[in-house]
Amino acid sequence: ASEYQTFHSNIRDRDNKDINDIVRDHYNQRTKVSKFQGSRVQSPIYKMRNFNNAIKYMLLGNFARSLPDSGKPKVMLDLCCGKGGDLNKCEFIGVDHYIGVDISDGSVKEAYSRYSKNKAHFKLAHRVPDSRKYTFEACFATGDCFSTPIPDILEPHFPGIIENLFPVDCVSVQFSLHYSFETEEKARTLITNVSKSLRPGGVFVGTIPSSDFIKEKIIRKDFLSPKKFGNDLYQVTFERDPPEDGVFRPPFGNKYNYFLQDAVDNIPEYVVPFETLRSLCEDAGLTLKYRKSFIEMFNLEIPKYFSQLNRHLIDGMRRTDGKYGVEGLEKEAVNFYLAFAFEKLD
Ligand code: SAM
Repeated sequence: ASEYQTFHSNIRDRDNKDINDIVRDHYNQRTKVSKFQGSRVQSPIYKMRNFNNAIKYMLLGNFARSLPDSGKPKVMLDLCCGKGGDLNKCEFIGVDHYIGVDISDGSVKEAYSRYSKNKAHFKLAHRVPDSRKYTFEACFATGDCFSTPIPDILEPHFPGIIENLFPVDCVSVQFSLHYSFETEEKARTLITNVSKSLRPGGVFVGTIPSSDFIKEKIIRKDFLSPKKFGNDLYQVTFERDPPEDGVFRPPFGNKYNYFLQDAVDNIPEYVVPFETLRSLCEDAGLTLKYRKSFIEMFNLEIPKYFSQLNRHLIDGMRRTDGKYGVEGLEKEAVNFYLAFAFEKLD
């Protein structure tokens, strides 16, 4: 499938204005901003970024790395791939081919450029010994994963890709699925995209805000104001008064604005009631294998992964007490999230 390697295409969707535009503009803007940012180490969410990355390594390590050899190249489909932050994880989990799709063309371009640089370094490895080296192939496309079937996004630009690389071994949707819970139709389209892309036994992994965490906040009345919870680092502001029992009905369209210092400026997101996600997945032939809050997962998995993860990543999570992980305001901000894995049934 080498003719698909390092392709970049630009599909502009015509009709989906509204939240898509807000989200796309935000992430397009971020790709520009980040170039002018000061040192990443000084960011107030530096530990949190490393922590979130460690979680993704461990999630992919547990579920995508351990997949039995199917005798075919191992393929990962990264939906809502952003700037390709998970490309480095492909070497870690032994992927042969990576496919990234995102609605933000600025992010997709950056992902492509990041891949190309590291792929080139691989080719020049003897001259650039310390550089990251990619041995896997990759291709990227811009498209709306919540309204367009994956073949319609990829096939026009990479003819034959569906026949050659699908069904894939792993679909990853990291920190993005919550945007699709605006409507049932969008959420179902995304889950259908996931399920139709996967081979039986393949895995669907992701990270989303935890509806249990939100429910706890509501029940304990741990709010900053009637519609807002969080701290100086992150804030969640509901559009409407949240339900007193913390159970959102109907389960779609429950909008809040999310703020994260140095990263997200009050962008609309939607509550993902986990049981609703689970039932959408079950309807699509995906069965739940794993669901843990970030802190729970970190504490459980880090002993196994401590020596396997990149030194910079580990050092970037060093706390003031000398231990590793997150603390203070960042601890609550990361625990807003959970990690999950589903398996595609036969
Ligand atoms: N998955 C990446 C990561 O973990 O670093 C990026 C996560 S970022 C928080 C959310 C991403 O979702 C953005 O890049 C955004 O453009 C993308 N996104 C939002 N709505 C989308 C849609 N309908 N189709 C494809 N991508 C979408």
